[in-house]
Amino acid sequence: MAANAEKSTHTQTPLQLLLFVDQRPSSQEQIQRLHKYLEDLKNDYPFELEVVDVGEQPYLAEHFKLVATPALIKIHPPPRHIIAGTNLVAQLADWWPRWKQSMDEYQNLDGESWPAGTERADIRSFAHVAELIRISEEIFRLKQEKEELQQQLQFKDRIIAMLAHDLRNPLTAASIALETLETNTDPNNGNSPRLTPALVNQLIKQARNQTRAIERLIVDILQGSQGNNGSLKIVPQKVDLGELCQEVLECLKHRFAMKSQQIKTDIPKDLPYVYADPERVRQVLVNLLDNANKYTPPSGTIQVSVLHRTAQKVHLSVCDTGPGIPEENRDRIFEERYRLKRDEALDGYGIGLSLCQRIIRSHYGRIWVDSVPDKGSCFHFTLPVYR
Ligand code: ADP
Repeated sequence: MAANAEKSTHTQTPLQLLLFVDQRPSSQEQIQRLHKYLEDLKNDYPFELEVVDVGEQPYLAEHFKLVATPALIKIHPPPRHIIAGTNLVAQLADWWPRWKQSMDEYQNLDGESWPAGTERADIRSFAHVAELIRISEEIFRLKQEKEELQQQLQFKDRIIAMLAHDLRNPLTAASIALETLETNTDPNNGNSPRLTPALVNQLIKQARNQTRAIERLIVDILQGSQGNNGSLKIVPQKVDLGELCQEVLECLKHRFAMKSQQIKTDIPKDLPYVYADPERVRQVLVNLLDNANKYTPPSGTIQVSVLHRTAQKVHLSVCDTGPGIPEENRDRIFEERYRLKRDEALDGYGIGLSLCQRIIRSHYGRIWVDSVPDKGSCFHFTLPVYR
């Protein structure tokens, strides 16, 4: 009974064709000719046609492993048959009698002889399978994205803790200065010794300096969050900065040798790990060392030092004995495409330092340059400690 019901559904399924098209101008003429030919064939033998635009449903093309479009696929009756290439109309004309014949033969089969999996062989279930493939790919992608976002959130949490700590120091110093001023200059407070004018000035100066430090930190935070909104992707992890420095220096050593430049390092063994994206930090080191090598004359010295001055940050410096950077350009060299006129004859695009700045800011660190013109430059950056 069930077999009969199934047979009737299957014998009712007509010849089914799937036409894959694309939007390339070069395909349009062929697609039109094929449509017209298929229109005429409708009077010859009944069939069902579905048109799929590969641009809109690429996963469906992938499902059928198509290597070229336009392509015409006979979905039902099985076995599946694909014709593709330049002369589709001629190929269809050739195959059409055989497709008709296979349909007739299929309709005359009894249920037992249907090829395995036949019941799935219709256009709608193929579309469902393809949709399932697409959905599972989407789920995979979303899972990956979720993991990355969780990592970013974790990074932000740690950075916020670090910045809160950084802000506390100048804030405490400013508060102490203000409280001392308040209690010691209060005319109603007869018990406290009055401050000398020199001391008052010093305390005011201290409070002002500390508020400036707070302001600078806030600017860093804001710029850091801007850096993260850009296209720069940071995948932070526990990184041994000393080891990374040695690796980069090893890779570049032939370049320094070519200019007889001497490399000195001061990298303590007990450095804490930093919380950073190792590939991005490598880019920063390569850029800074590359510049040191390029702008320092032959026989100069390049020194890489790492310091762990506060519990929160590690500080790295790349110093050279090159021409230095005039004071008025020290901020501008971090702008995109900015190069000193003096160096225009040398190779370069003026983007290395701006990239370094974006990378370091995305790690909520700072990057800056110190320089004594004609004596050399020291590029510094900080990175958060891993805890
Ligand atoms: P590029 O080196 O491709 O010009 P950068 O963004 O790396 O671009 O550097 C910007 C400019 O800063 C350089 O053109 C150069 O004038 C100056 N500069 C960078 N590093 C040094 C250095 N170590 N010594 C002297 N000048 C430098």
